[in-house]
Amino acid sequence: MTKPQTSKVAADPDFGPQLAAQLNAELASMPLPGRILRIASLGRAVFTTSLGLEDQVLTSIIAATRAELRIVTLDTGRLFAETLELLDKTEAQYGLSIEVFRPWKDEVDGFVALYGMNGFYDSVEARHACCHARKLQPLGRALADAEIWVTGLRRGQSGNRANAPLAEWDADRSLLKINPLADQSLETLQARARADDVPVNPLHAKGFPSIGCEPCTRAIKPGEPERAGRWWWEQDERRECGLHLSASVSGSRAQGQPKV
Ligand code: SF4
Repeated sequence: MTKPQTSKVAADPDFGPQLAAQLNAELASMPLPGRILRIASLGRAVFTTSLGLEDQVLTSIIAATRAELRIVTLDTGRLFAETLELLDKTEAQYGLSIEVFRPWKDEVDGFVALYGMNGFYDSVEARHACCHARKLQPLGRALADAEIWVTGLRRGQSGNRANAPLAEWDADRSLLKINPLADQSLETLQARARADDVPVNPLHAKGFPSIGCEPCTRAIKPGEPERAGRWWWEQDERRECGLHLSASVSGSRAQGQPKV
């Protein structure tokens, strides 16, 4: 298999989707370290971590295999202190650098002027505007040079991620999106984290299986879906931030409509 080339994509609109389909089949039979090394061999890969359990396991595998992937994170300015502490701890434990992308000040100032600092509670429009300024815009910069986007998405995280493939073609961003943990269970990753002494966010043990910005994340109750604590005041179908807006994750491609 060859590296994805922009010129090939431009010349053949089927190239990207065909490559994604090949990778789906190929990666399915590989153990996780093999998947990471295969992904790194394909081209310029960027792994976006939010420092959740899944992402921490991926980071530990990248460190162990010395795979050549850039690791980046988005510091929205509203993260939990525990998440920021984990960022430092992870870099120190694995001796690697995690690139931090932050929102532009003028974009945040514009949001605050229009809606108020916590205006995201008041309307879906305001919440999407906040996620756009604090997450989507920095993500665009983080992926600007990427041919492959690696995520910690897992099918069991919530209903609208249930169909996440191992590899897909992100037509909006013209890159391969690879979710090497898509077929892994939470229990499998928890066991791996324990066995490999992977540093994890202490909030997981306090009822936060999914951790985002502090004002938009709460602990879940027993029996609730894993992502029930994210934007809990919104309807289920709206509770994505837009980072993973794609046919496989959202169920339908709503052009230009962030869903974080
Ligand atoms: Fe803003 Fe909340 Fe989205 Fe974070 S999760 S960017 S605080 S709306």
